[in-house]
Amino acid sequence: MPSRYDATREDLAELLAGEPAFRVRQVWDGLHSRVVAPAAMTELPAALRTHLDESLPPALVVARESISDDGDTIKWLWRLHDGALVETVLMHYADRSTVCVSSQAGCAMACGFCATGQAGFERQLTTGEIVEQVARAVERARPRRLSNVVLMGMGEPMANYDRVWPAIVRMHDDMGLSARHLTISTVGIVPGIRRLAGEDLPVNMAVSLHAANDTLRDEMVPINKRYPLADLMDACADYLAAKGRRLSFEWALIAGVNDRGRDAEELAALARPLGAHVNLIPLNPTPGYATPGTPPEGVRRFRDALGALGVNATVRQNRGTEIDAACGQLRATAVQIT
Ligand code: SAH
Repeated sequence: MPSRYDATREDLAELLAGEPAFRVRQVWDGLHSRVVAPAAMTELPAALRTHLDESLPPALVVARESISDDGDTIKWLWRLHDGALVETVLMHYADRSTVCVSSQAGCAMACGFCATGQAGFERQLTTGEIVEQVARAVERARPRRLSNVVLMGMGEPMANYDRVWPAIVRMHDDMGLSARHLTISTVGIVPGIRRLAGEDLPVNMAVSLHAANDTLRDEMVPINKRYPLADLMDACADYLAAKGRRLSFEWALIAGVNDRGRDAEELAALARPLGAHVNLIPLNPTPGYATPGTPPEGVRRFRDALGALGVNATVRQNRGTEIDAACGQLRATAVQIT
């Protein structure tokens, strides 16, 4: 049997052969809408609960849980059935609780400033492995309600589209999360953006831009050589026209690299026509990248420069830096279990 959240309704029907027909729906809703383990589905006969619990093992086994920000940031390192390691981060804010979910074990995009990119690609996550990250966060967030999901963990969601999109649909249709609270972040895979524009669900899209001229972006984000800025901006414009959702650009501020007046001007020239919102992230330190992030004063200056150029920019609150849970720090370091 597949894992708990990789099981389809057909798999459940097979497991529940001989039971009344409504059981499939009951179990499916228990897993997705009420988000409880089969063992806790008290509406089922006890023997059936045990049978389901054993037949539908979770895909994610906790290898380590780290907590920071007075309990408001929780990071899990999960070990998957084949030993692959991925991470998930749950963040509580005054007005919302957001989970940052991984879409791949590792990443093939090779952005030098990102810890996941430094480590390379391991494998695609399955739809169930993605959905289960959300389910775990829902359980852990209680009594608070998990409100937002961002695909901003390890991996490039658009490079695993066929498994990521069904996961998004399940979060929406079966777990009850609204499309405007679901965000896909991409390094800028143009065919993926075009596919997303054709989907029914209007989810949010964030594009990790980091550089607004091709010379610099080729260096920082190697996939830019395949999908240069002109094509990327065309795809973003089409996405906006199709969806009418707010588009955001992520910009990790790196001292002396992309935090100068000229960078703000180039960025504004791309963001303004699209009405894009800019998320500034002071670069978080990673083992394989020596250049430091822009200091706080420079970050404010860059934000103000964008503001003066008519671009709405906010500085992303940094969460979980000391547990390596901040943007770009996820690398799923193996732990010594003693
Ligand atoms: N591959 C997707 C999803 C990852 S999201 C994407 O690129 O959008 C992770 C976000 O953190 C991206 O915007 C990424 O560019 C950014 N990031 C990567 N390394 C970082 C670092 N060291 N400091 C701050 N942000 C970083």
